[in-house]
Amino acid sequence: MSTERERLHNLFPDLDFDPEALRAKYRRERDKRIREDGEDQYVEAASEFASYADDDPYADPDFQRDPLDIDIEVAVIGAGFSGLMTAARLKERGITDFKIIESGGDFGGTWYWNRYPGAQCDIESYCYLPLLEETGYMPKEKYSFAPEIFSHTQRIGEYFGLYDNALFQTRVTEVRWQEEGQHWLVSTHRGDTIRAQFVIQATGPANRPKLPGIPGIKDYKGHSFHTSRWDYDYTGGDHTGGLTKLKDKKVAIIGTGATAIQCVPFLGEYAQKLYVFQRTPSPVDLRGNKQTDEEWYRSQGPGWQRARRENFAATLAGQNFGEDLVADGWTDIVRRIGLSLMNRKPDSGDLDMDEIALRSEIADFQKMNEIRSRVDEEVTKPDAAEALKPWYRQFCKRPTFNDEYLATFSRDNVEVIDVSESKGVERITENAVVANGQSYEVDCIIYATGFEITTSVHRRVDFDTLGRDGQSLYDHWSDGLRTLHGLTSHGFPNWFTIGINQNGLSPNMTSMFDDQAMHVGAIIAAVKERGKRVIEATSEAEQAWVDQIVALAGAGTGAAAFLEECTPGYYNREGKSAQANSQNSPYAPGINAFNAVLKEWRDKGDLEGMELS
Ligand code: NDP
Repeated sequence: MSTERERLHNLFPDLDFDPEALRAKYRRERDKRIREDGEDQYVEAASEFASYADDDPYADPDFQRDPLDIDIEVAVIGAGFSGLMTAARLKERGITDFKIIESGGDFGGTWYWNRYPGAQCDIESYCYLPLLEETGYMPKEKYSFAPEIFSHTQRIGEYFGLYDNALFQTRVTEVRWQEEGQHWLVSTHRGDTIRAQFVIQATGPANRPKLPGIPGIKDYKGHSFHTSRWDYDYTGGDHTGGLTKLKDKKVAIIGTGATAIQCVPFLGEYAQKLYVFQRTPSPVDLRGNKQTDEEWYRSQGPGWQRARRENFAATLAGQNFGEDLVADGWTDIVRRIGLSLMNRKPDSGDLDMDEIALRSEIADFQKMNEIRSRVDEEVTKPDAAEALKPWYRQFCKRPTFNDEYLATFSRDNVEVIDVSESKGVERITENAVVANGQSYEVDCIIYATGFEITTSVHRRVDFDTLGRDGQSLYDHWSDGLRTLHGLTSHGFPNWFTIGINQNGLSPNMTSMFDDQAMHVGAIIAAVKERGKRVIEATSEAEQAWVDQIVALAGAGTGAAAFLEECTPGYYNREGKSAQANSQNSPYAPGINAFNAVLKEWRDKGDLEGMELS
């Protein structure tokens, strides 16, 4: 027996699978999907494809207003959760002279656009829906569906009186620093001239739909749309189903990520024929949603929501040695690793990093074996069941949770078309999707192909930001992100951004946004309190933060090495994470540690690394 096999046998004498065989299978499944063109395989929803992003099926198409020519204190760009939280936190501090500029017709961002049937948030509602204590709202279920989340954004808007500050159906076209007036000039497609002392960009990480660059995609003459612009006029029905207009339609859906998992059961129920074109299957775990227990909910004491969010983040980071409050599919794997370590035999010798890594891998194999067994239990067609099994480690792709998706493939009218060998759909023609040499004629193609999440920041923001001396933010960032705390950059006075750049990441996005919003609100309040007008990160402070991000990314959690072994996807830049610029990494120790850094910075009270004038 090799030393490694011996060690494996000693640590796990009862294993009912061969880890080496699984590793080899994972490697094969990864390698066959890797494409030379990496992220370039996608086309931007711009120019000839612009309608996939620019069309707004939900807003009033006749809306008009006169251009504004105004001076304000703050311009917040974006009214998704990040912009909304920013605005709410500004109001709390008594800063009321601001506008929120948003291309959609209401608050909501992701939840304004994503109204596809079955859309739901897979992060527990008690953590995800912000400001629950302030607004007194009790989520209906442990996992909220999209309409409830969208209404909550409207509730926050009303609670903080933010509708008066909103400029909806308005796209920013340029943001330019004016040295003379010491303010920003914000221009919009409605001809507005907005002079703002501060600008806070909150344009969100998943705001631009992306399309696969499948040969012939332009030639298709049938109906097509992206899931984030669901066309209910065409399908009939609403978020809860009733897609009755599809009863005589052959439908193709391309993509099987978190979005497809939620809407496929509805398409399968209503379409005459549904072809699901799958390159990589998602891991589909149990949802097991449940109604909120009102008595439990009302018994939570002040500060409970922040404590719960922090507990969730600490659990995911393997830093929670107490109760796992959320206790769901996200935290399950961490619990398993913890149990494996706790059940270690006393005579196992010293615990080293190799053993921790091995125990994590075995727990991961066991979890994924359960996910794969579930496919066999739910799908009656053996070929489909085989195709639907994911062969990679948990967290290589976003975990998904659904109780109807897998069973949909047992229906006679639903077929999964595995396009892994050809690394994606082969071709699209005037009336068909071609895969594995076969042509599938369809009336409609639905693109469940996700968003531009890791492409260049400028590609995701369709306006330029010009700072001191007319320098573009994107030139400043051309060799990688350059920020202080992920929130502001040198050369861009009174400019802040809320998002996922060089800061503490969490799958619970709203908590990140809220923490950043509070921090930026505190900085703006400090500028006002000191009777100053302009604040700017120093070049030295920016460089120090960049250096820290890079050092931690290299020395840190091994996330890059983990992702390198994964099947391609946006998590690992389509299999090219080794080439990723470590400057664009998040703050590796995680969101709780990042918040501690921000708190310490605020508590010091000297705005270290920023200059006032
Ligand atoms: P994803 O990017 O996760 O998935 C895109 C899908 O399109 C993948 O299955 C991909 O396959 C497939 N695809 C791309 N190109 C081709 C091609 N040429 N041929 C065939 N298939 C192709 O997008 P989603 O919209 O599903 O999810 C995006 C993100 O939105 C999630 O990761 C999550 O962050 C968020 N989301 C969150 C939800 C929540 O509950 N909180 C729910 C829904 C979405 P492959 O995997 O092989 O690349």
